[in-house]
Amino acid sequence: MAFQVGSDIEAMCNPCGDVWHVVVAKVGDKITKVQCKQCSKQHRFKPTGDAPEANLNPTRRKVASAGPKTTRARAKPAAAAGIVHDPNLPTRDYGISERFSLGEQIQHKKFGAGIVCGVEDSKIRVNFTEGVKVLLHAKR
Ligand SMILES: [Zn+2]
Ligand SMILES: [Zn+2]
Repeated sequence: MAFQVGSDIEAMCNPCGDVWHVVVAKVGDKITKVQCKQCSKQHRFKPTGDAPEANLNPTRRKVASAGPKTTRARAKPAAAAGIVHDPNLPTRDYGISERFSLGEQIQHKKFGAGIVCGVEDSKIRVNFTEGVKVLLHAKR
């Protein structure tokens, strides 16, 4: 399976923490450069930690290799209206090396304040005023 230049790919964005990128350059089958859809920066391709094919198909939920750990404790993406901000949790600045939990309010440099409405292994879904964004966070 070859990655095409111009196709969507999930990659790690250090500048902004987003995961949606477009392939801009490759050498053979290796992606060498991607461009962020969020901050438009071009940088080297850095996988998000999933299998390469999962990076290529961000919409597909793939947990196959995860093994039989706790069954489906996966947080369902909450409907935008149904997100409950937990007031006991302090507002924290978003950082790619931080780990966040459900209901936490975060402050993002670019998007402003948002509430964490979904938590996965290496990603969080955050409800900002302009919509829900998928950001990376530190793995446990
Ligand atoms: Zn990027
Ligand atoms: Zn970016």
